[in-house]
Amino acid sequence: KGGPTSGPRANPKDTKGVSASKATDFATWYTQVITRGEMIEYHDISGCYVLRPWSFFIWEEISRMLDAGIKDLGVQNAYFPCFVSQEMLEVEKSHLEGFAPEVAWVTRSGESQLAKPIALRPTSETIMYPFFAKWIRSHRDLPLKLNQWANVVRWEFRQPTPFLRTREFLWQEGHTAHATAEEAQEMVDAALELYERTYTELLAVPVLKGMKSEEEKFAGSLHSQTLEVFIPATGRGIQAATSHHLGQKFAEMFGIHFEDDSGRRQLVHQSSWGMTTRSLGIMIMVHGDDKGLVLPPRVAPVQVVLIPIASKGDAAGEFKCWQLMEELKLHGIRAEVDARGNYTPGWKFNWWELKGVPLRVEVGPRDLDRGTCRVVRRLDGSKKDVEQSQLAAIVRDDLKDIHAAMLRKATEERDAGIAKVMDWSEVVPMLKQKKLILAPWCETAASELLIRRRTKEAEDGKEAALTGAMKSLCLPFDQPPLPSGTKCFFTGEPARRWCLFGRSY
Ligand code: AMP
Repeated sequence: KGGPTSGPRANPKDTKGVSASKATDFATWYTQVITRGEMIEYHDISGCYVLRPWSFFIWEEISRMLDAGIKDLGVQNAYFPCFVSQEMLEVEKSHLEGFAPEVAWVTRSGESQLAKPIALRPTSETIMYPFFAKWIRSHRDLPLKLNQWANVVRWEFRQPTPFLRTREFLWQEGHTAHATAEEAQEMVDAALELYERTYTELLAVPVLKGMKSEEEKFAGSLHSQTLEVFIPATGRGIQAATSHHLGQKFAEMFGIHFEDDSGRRQLVHQSSWGMTTRSLGIMIMVHGDDKGLVLPPRVAPVQVVLIPIASKGDAAGEFKCWQLMEELKLHGIRAEVDARGNYTPGWKFNWWELKGVPLRVEVGPRDLDRGTCRVVRRLDGSKKDVEQSQLAAIVRDDLKDIHAAMLRKATEERDAGIAKVMDWSEVVPMLKQKKLILAPWCETAASELLIRRRTKEAEDGKEAALTGAMKSLCLPFDQPPLPSGTKCFFTGEPARRWCLFGRSY
């Protein structure tokens, strides 16, 4: 008999549930959920965290879906070194300027100083593209489509947050080179769509797709496309994944040429795109509640936990649980029995609620007489008694149903969290109500900087908990109609598009 994956604790009294409220003390709530739910352990270097099995399993599921989707797009996996020379890092100026403050350097080996410091990759454009230049000769070598699964290091100076903003994180990064700008754009779109499907179909998290503003785009790119997610509890937006059209800038700097079919030397058009372990934090923040994690069924390491409720010394309930577990496993459902003798059923209920397991099945003495068991949903606590013989079929439907309900709930909260604003005077009051702002905008760089400054000033002082400047999140692809003559909500100049603004992570 295997035990629960979480492992037994020495003393039931040691395990604390979540005591902070998500609505009123979000930061403490998040820390409690991820540490007590056994997702994360803090390392002694700030901004670095241990991904424990309960969270790493979820990352593996995300990776599996992404990896299959990436391969379907004709992209091959490869691996490049994690170090980059200063010389290469400095080749593309605007790229370097964007990343320079966050680059970590190796300056010493043992006691001796390195002749030249070596950087740890914050992203791998400057590591991969010298090889692209070497490997690409003619149009027959195109498109070149590579992906790598890797860790990257960004020595962030902003407040680190487990999963969301860490100094080392795991991701995949896709890098492609094409003969035309249109083909590169197709790749950018396809990657973003794969990310969208991963968020909605696996994590039950709704996303908003759009374009980054000039200020917010990836350093060195032509333009950046993004998925933005709304975190209702804080009213903040977060960048969930990005896909960049790099144009020909990197190709020019790294000399990535090809001979087209009429023998002319041309520069390639490139894309790069990445999704990271940040996705787990987003999932936790969107779905979790005051009892702890609420895991979307498709990624939950344990989808169903079976708990015997026995009168003393009676093993029949436990035996039935093992039988039902086997039956569920035969149907491809991740099921486990919590048969630990040193815990009460009530303690186990709390424990598995903290861990976010989607369904709990209880088997008590009365169920044994009647051939039933009780199925309880983590999402809403709803209970029903079902025939044991029907359990596998019911669980399968329930798991699908729970996923749909989680996505629906999160979508409703997201939609309710976006305020359409036509005038600047409405902005700060809406931010205080934890809303994102959708407003007609003139899209000038100067106004973007001023918007940040003004919202910061408006927030500073009185309401410290609500501080943080508002910035542009994206110009959504899905644009509401913009009647001609509509003015920018900030400058009063003619508006070009609707833009989503908000406080962000
Ligand atoms: P970028 O290469 O800058 O476009 O980043 C790709 C994606 O990585 C972003 O869209 C974020 O979702 C995510 N990301 C950026 N910085 C971090 C970080 N410090 N920790 C975790 N994820 C990050």
